Amino acid sequence: MDPEELLTAPSATGAPCFAFRGDLLLLRTEPSVELPVWEDIAGLPLSGRSPGFWITGRPGNCWASLVEDALLPEGMSLVTLRDVWSLMGERAFFEAGRAFQIMEWSQRNRFCGRCATPMVEAENETALMCPTCGLVSYPTVTPAIIVAVEREGRLLLARNTRFPKGRYSVIAGFVEPGETLEGAVEREVMEEVSVRVKNITYFGSQPWPFPHSMMVGFRAEWESGEIMADGNEIESAGWYSPEGFPDIPPGFSISRRLIDDFLARHA
Ligand SMILES: [Zn+2]
Repeated sequence: MDPEELLTAPSATGAPCFAFRGDLLLLRTEPSVELPVWEDIAGLPLSGRSPGFWITGRPGNCWASLVEDALLPEGMSLVTLRDVWSLMGERAFFEAGRAFQIMEWSQRNRFCGRCATPMVEAENETALMCPTCGLVSYPTVTPAIIVAVEREGRLLLARNTRFPKGRYSVIAGFVEPGETLEGAVEREVMEEVSVRVKNITYFGSQPWPFPHSMMVGFRAEWESGEIMADGNEIESAGWYSPEGFPDIPPGFSISRRLIDDFLARHA
């Protein structure tokens, strides 16, 4: 990057900056845990930085990506996005997740996918635009459903092959083109455990920046069929009563909120 360009960085003085090395976020940890400001970042070796997007609607917030072997300034550490939740709370997690998603998207859309011209930042929205052919690229958000299926006071919990050892959770999966969210719920439950569901109701949602999902949560009831794990994505599944739960996901995920909601209604 042109060093002159760094001097005209977009950020206002003292504005917090989301700087990542890979998918790890740089935090000032001494004397207290907080985001670094642009001035902390500007002198570091960067492979990219925001052209001027307002990450949280506040002017001056920005993202930057450090080169892989960048040395960290005194008093700073790299943490996972999940750590941000426990260290700084939910709001910081969502803001850092947004910055990460915008960064990922910007860096993957530097050139127009149609005519290969370098993209420029759109003026009035978070988008990149091709000055030659007019193609507009918006940040990627990939919807996925997550559903708590109940049958007579028991909850459907399944073990995905990618989960940590012993971990079970509710069913989740990506929405396909041309599909409604409810349709995705029906299809995913059928594909993964061969069960038909009914009475699908909306529960809530959660942005999930790993790397750019939007988890949309539902409750549903068993209608028919016996559980048969697909043996591919799901290695085992069953109906669980509150007193006999296996290991479940940690507190900050919507999967856990769905499970806690079930427990609150059946304890
Ligand atoms: Zn173009």
